[in-house]
Amino acid sequence: MNGLVPLTLTAARKSLPGVSVTAAMLFAVASAFGQSAPHVHGTGTLNLAIEGNTLILELVAPASDIVGFEHPPASSNDRQAVLNAAQTLKDGELLFRLPNEAGCDLKEAEVETGLLQGDDHSHSEPDEDHAEFHAHYRFQCSDPDELHYIDVDYFSKFPNAHELETRTITPAGQNAAELTPHASRLKL
Ligand SMILES: [Zn+2]
Repeated sequence: MNGLVPLTLTAARKSLPGVSVTAAMLFAVASAFGQSAPHVHGTGTLNLAIEGNTLILELVAPASDIVGFEHPPASSNDRQAVLNAAQTLKDGELLFRLPNEAGCDLKEAEVETGLLQGDDHSHSEPDEDHAEFHAHYRFQCSDPDELHYIDVDYFSKFPNAHELETRTITPAGQNAAELTPHASRLKL
């Protein structure tokens, strides 16, 4: 099948040397806490790092939270639902509402999901019972000191999601918090 719409959007690839280290660290955190055990439906993970003028966000969510199922798309409707959800996730400027004073621009957004890899990628994992969505964002901010909070507009877009476990790494230190539909502002 060659009609698969690529799920990876790369607006620009000008990552700073230090940023990739942070991103790699975030990925390590995600795999240590999110993938070694089956995920809990309803609960996703959001990792955030601020480094210089760069804001990195990484979201890992059960596919069940995003599209309501975790089986490989069984119909064109399923497939369309996956593509639509990926598009919604990719729109990081709508998903993460940042303080205007911080002057942030989305430079890169990537979304991947195991749901569309089974029939197209050689590295498919047929035994995997739980599919996920992984999204990765990079913003450049002119005044990152103004990043006092982020309103995460996730639960309204994905009503099956009930919780986001967040971990943040900022110049002020590391923190962890839970976001819910009724408390979706991430304070930094
Ligand atoms: Zn699952």
